[in-house]
Amino acid sequence: MKKNKLLKVLTFIGTGMLSMSMLAGCAGNSTPQAGNNNTASEQPKAPADGGKYIVMGTNAEFEPFEYREGSEIVGFDVEIAKAIAAKAGKELKIEDMEFGTLIVGLNNNQMDFIAAGMSVTEERKTQVDFSNPYFTSKQVIIVKADDGSIQTADDLVGKKVGVQLGTTGDLFVSGTDGVEVLQFDKAPLAVMELKNGKVDAVVIDAEPAKRLVEGQDDIKVLDAPFTEEEYAIAVRKGDKELLDLINSVIEELKQNGEYDKIFEKFFDVEE
Ligand code: GLN
Repeated sequence: MKKNKLLKVLTFIGTGMLSMSMLAGCAGNSTPQAGNNNTASEQPKAPADGGKYIVMGTNAEFEPFEYREGSEIVGFDVEIAKAIAAKAGKELKIEDMEFGTLIVGLNNNQMDFIAAGMSVTEERKTQVDFSNPYFTSKQVIIVKADDGSIQTADDLVGKKVGVQLGTTGDLFVSGTDGVEVLQFDKAPLAVMELKNGKVDAVVIDAEPAKRLVEGQDDIKVLDAPFTEEEYAIAVRKGDKELLDLINSVIEELKQNGEYDKIFEKFFDVEE
């Protein structure tokens, strides 16, 4: 009975590492494993429950940093998170939620760290601890291709501007007098409303902006100079152990050439 249930569970889980480690655990319980002199009780691997995973919180609407490819969440940040998980000796689990709820989620223990193209800001620093920066970005403006009236950030005054709620783009335009700000849960929705003529411009991070505009003739990214920002990974305040581990991973990835490989994978590919 118990065995049948376990088999069913295994069938559902499929062929991931989880089923492999469970199968290994099963075999170890009944028969000693060939070629292994340790007894089962001496093997510290794969604790039955908690502690097996390290959880990354993100908003998977931010290509190329985090986005969905089929049912999988992939991207630049995911690769860095995988390296963090490997260093921590855990399996990576991803919690996908609205960007604006990530910090609350982190502080409610829904995740261990945030990797979401999150820019370091003074205000956020009061709520979380940030790793060393791993990417430099900036905000850009997307407008209709035939729009001549918006050239720089100053021209946003008197216009309707779409942003993603709770982002630095949102903070910037919401803090600018005379701009009518429309906040969206997802950046792609803001861009859709630009195409529909419901907003005059969208303010968003540079790389996702490029992806959102790619292959579309009716909208364009302005190369007007704008705020510069640094992305970093956030942990709960005082979680020094994890922060140190994350900083050492970022450093290692830069030293051993992996960072460049990840970069090329997500930034140089011509499709
Ligand atoms: N870099 C921006 C911020 O930190 C946007 C991040 C995002 O939308 N994922 O607010």
